[in-house]
Amino acid sequence: MKKIIAMLAALCILLTLCAVSLADEHVHVWGPWTKVEGTNTHSAVCTECGESMAAKCYSATVTFENRRVSVCSYCGNYSEGAFEPIEGTAKALNGKDSSQRGVFLAVGKAQPFASQPEVLYAFIPGFTKDGSMATFKNKCSISVKIDAELPEGFRLVRVTPQAGDDSNQTPETWTDCEYTWEDGVLTFETKSPYMHMLIAP
Ligand SMILES: [Zn+2]
Ligand SMILES: [Zn+2]
Repeated sequence: MKKIIAMLAALCILLTLCAVSLADEHVHVWGPWTKVEGTNTHSAVCTECGESMAAKCYSATVTFENRRVSVCSYCGNYSEGAFEPIEGTAKALNGKDSSQRGVFLAVGKAQPFASQPEVLYAFIPGFTKDGSMATFKNKCSISVKIDAELPEGFRLVRVTPQAGDDSNQTPETWTDCEYTWEDGVLTFETKSPYMHMLIAP
């Protein structure tokens, strides 16, 4: 009898240990990232377990003449408001989607810069891992849903930061990108998390 009790006790301990290790394997599913007011961080709540986490904001920048605008790639916050999460997908062009870390996230806004009416829309595609940047492992075909009326022949421009000199008044390179535009969905190829802008023709 004693032996059976001991065995049962051992079994109980084993089951408890299993339950604990299963709980450890919980992968958080973060809801939307929102700015923590008064800080340079954003936070999100796990939609599964309710835990919250904060992470540093990570900005994409664009310079107009001598005015530099920084937009957080994850919570969308910037000096004139906030970019909102938009629907989108990213597919690795070499088919190796499984090597990509993080989840795809895009934030965007129509007419985002009051002083630049020619910028019809701007968005930032990226992969986020726990609120921080996960670099693109592969060149991707990205499709994003754009909620804006766009004229024929608009330009899609990628704003790539230049290494080094911050004193430079135009520190980014603007590159025109090929795209397709169908039923409100913009599709293009990139390997960069930088700001992309749709500019009036
Ligand atoms: Zn969780
Ligand atoms: Zn942020």
